[in-house]
Amino acid sequence: MKVKTRFAPSPTGDLHIGSIRTALYSWLFARHYNGKFILRIEDTDFQRSKSFSVQSIFQGLKWLGLDWDEGPYFQSKRLDRYKEVIEIMLKTGNAYKCFCSPKEIEQERFKQLCEGKKPRYTGVCRNLKNKYNINKKYTIRFKNPNSGIVTFEDKIRGQITFDNMELDDLIIQRSNGIPTYNFCVVIDDLDMNITHVIRGEDHINNTPRQINILKSLKAQIPVYAHVSMILNENGKKFSKRDNSENIIEYYNKGFLPEALINYIIRLGWSHGNQEIFSLLELKKLFNLDSISKSASAFSIKKLLWLNKYYINSLPLNYISNILKDYMKHENINIESGPNLESLLHLYKNRYHTLKEMACAFRFFYEEFKCFDIKSANKYLVLKNFYILKKIYNKIQKFSFWQIETLSEFINNQSIELNVKIKEISMLLRVVLTGNISSPNISSVMFLLGKEKTLFRLKKSMSFIEKNRKF
Ligand code: GLU
Repeated sequence: MKVKTRFAPSPTGDLHIGSIRTALYSWLFARHYNGKFILRIEDTDFQRSKSFSVQSIFQGLKWLGLDWDEGPYFQSKRLDRYKEVIEIMLKTGNAYKCFCSPKEIEQERFKQLCEGKKPRYTGVCRNLKNKYNINKKYTIRFKNPNSGIVTFEDKIRGQITFDNMELDDLIIQRSNGIPTYNFCVVIDDLDMNITHVIRGEDHINNTPRQINILKSLKAQIPVYAHVSMILNENGKKFSKRDNSENIIEYYNKGFLPEALINYIIRLGWSHGNQEIFSLLELKKLFNLDSISKSASAFSIKKLLWLNKYYINSLPLNYISNILKDYMKHENINIESGPNLESLLHLYKNRYHTLKEMACAFRFFYEEFKCFDIKSANKYLVLKNFYILKKIYNKIQKFSFWQIETLSEFINNQSIELNVKIKEISMLLRVVLTGNISSPNISSVMFLLGKEKTLFRLKKSMSFIEKNRKF
């Protein structure tokens, strides 16, 4: 049988890292077996489903390259199909109408709690065939077997068993006529021929109920794999308050999809001690048996490390194209300034993210607005005015503009002016970039070009004239 997996998010908020990991595992599993991966939006909770969330799901999956072979299916468009199955189940006696009001159910619950029992629907309406037509609001419940066990072999956790007595007769259609989540999932997995259900551990309790419904429909039971949760840096469950909740935030922060995928896959899955995996390798190696049962902890340090690794090891022109888009996203116009590939060639190993790079490269394309105060107080001082003036006059006459000659020029200035080379370099860093943390200064001058170099020398001299007493 061909492997078929699905990613079935409920669009009730942003697409977060836990969901993306489930999607990635399902996608890789399908790709490994040359199977199919489908996308299904579980939007029957009309009040909580949001269109921004659907967009966030599409955007996140597309950014990471997790393409789907079928769908997106929307449960909200399949209501007729669910109703059709419910009708059949009513006829075959696998489901029944329940006329108990919420108040009655609450009273029963309360009574059970007072008696020290676990509250559950006791099945008052299970055998009320003759009352089918009474004029009262009703829900439809699945007739869960009331003896025996449900057991399944979870691919990650091993055998899991539930006693049927612990399972309520699940409501499969609400009193407003809308089928419930647990029911829609079952019908979809059945209709869409899903062979492997890979999802979060928060669904373990739904699984026996879903298996019982599938059994009542004489359907094939898929293989289940429940993935453990991801904890944040503080060892707590990832919550909306963790600021990178939406996966697209990682794009905004300058992460590469390759790094994020490599990072997410290792949150729970392993192949020996290997840390770096290409997508091709992952498709070859991924299996469900090597997923850990325990929760994994998120570490931004490791993600940064991986991002730096990918910035440095992916082809230069690829990174350059991604960075080009990212610079646009950061509102940096790269039309007038050095070619991005030259910048990357010289400096890429200094940075962890595209954001750091965009920030560090901005001064090549735009005039910086102000000098870093501490650096300016140290370097843009009266005694350096004369040094800058000399350098300015000499550079004005340059007919060459090469890194080696510029580096030689700075060395010569250090000797002629009797100022340490480090001092001159620092001074020029402040002049040309606004602060002292730029890369090698002759390469900066070279890439900036003669015109911008002269302009910034002049700007710095004016700053000294204006701010220091002569
Ligand atoms: N829609 C469910 C969720 O977002 C997932 C259901 C499933 O995978 O079975 O948690």
